Amino acid sequence: MGRVSGGAHLDLVRGVNDAAVLSLARRGNPMSRHDLAAALDVTPQAMTKILVRLRARGLIVEAGTISAGPGKPATLYALVPGARRAIGVHVSRTRARAVVVDLAGQVLDRADARIDATTTPDALVGTIVDLAGRVRRTGAGRLVGIGVGMPGPTDHDGGIFRGTDPEDPWQGLALRAELTARLELPALIDHDSTAAIVGESWAAPHAVRDAAFMLVEDGIGAGFRLGDLLQRGVHANAGEAGHMVVALDGEPCACGRRGCAQAEHAAALARGDVARAARIIASVVVDVVVLLDVDRVVLGGSTVRAHHGPYLDAVRTALVTELPSNDWQHVEVLVSTYGDDAIAVGAAAEVLEDEFGVPSALSRRV
Ligand SMILES: [Zn+2]
Repeated sequence: MGRVSGGAHLDLVRGVNDAAVLSLARRGNPMSRHDLAAALDVTPQAMTKILVRLRARGLIVEAGTISAGPGKPATLYALVPGARRAIGVHVSRTRARAVVVDLAGQVLDRADARIDATTTPDALVGTIVDLAGRVRRTGAGRLVGIGVGMPGPTDHDGGIFRGTDPEDPWQGLALRAELTARLELPALIDHDSTAAIVGESWAAPHAVRDAAFMLVEDGIGAGFRLGDLLQRGVHANAGEAGHMVVALDGEPCACGRRGCAQAEHAAALARGDVARAARIIASVVVDVVVLLDVDRVVLGGSTVRAHHGPYLDAVRTALVTELPSNDWQHVEVLVSTYGDDAIAVGAAAEVLEDEFGVPSALSRRV
């Protein structure tokens, strides 16, 4: 983030505090002002201001009282899940899925469409517009916007799909501008694996403080949270793990190098060698753990779902046998909570986080 003015800084602090309260409220149990203040390490007076702000916006309500000792019973506060909604879309090379999600991260509706390598940029935009139209009326709260998780690097601030392969017909597609205009909704686009870890952090906020999401679909990508913060990198494209070289002079890759994990993995699957494909993913996971010292790895994506037994086994085994520091570095490996919806839910969650005040690349309101 660049330098921010005092006012902008204050807005950001407010946003982060609001988002943190909503994140606690999303876990389900109503909480008192005192407990919320203690959990976020702010004063009860500061928490009062946050709660007043969130109540004024209809995002939380009073939900009964609790007695703890002889004093006046404490008021409890709960999230209003239906107060806001967002559409999330997951675009892969074979399918597009749209979901509409509430403030609790619940999927209210979903719709799918088939796409393929011949789908033109115009047809892709048309498909997303159609899917969004099918889900946008489900639920009651205000629809905040639409987020799209794309299969490859994006210009996150500009809302443009970059891709990796120079031959990719979607390269340069100004998707955010197209969707903002055609749906009359604020929009953002992001790297699919980054969206996935945002979704996972909604599903299990206490469990993904230092974590990597390893997405295995047609391509391989990773999303990171370190120290409880999403990590995007300078160009918002951290996590292109599929282009880590695992075999010098190996299979040619669309990115121009040889022996990338993604190319080797695709070749193994094409031969029907699931065991080797799983070992390649396991090797990438070990490298990520060695580099970033995360204690949790979440596996997701259509290929993991198709072969989740062998992939889970290979990754867990590699973390015991290949991790040099396995006597003190213990890593929990999980399969994505949201399953098929992981990226779409994550893209919607990014839109909702913008509503909370967490900075994102959501287009200006239209
Ligand atoms: Zn590559």
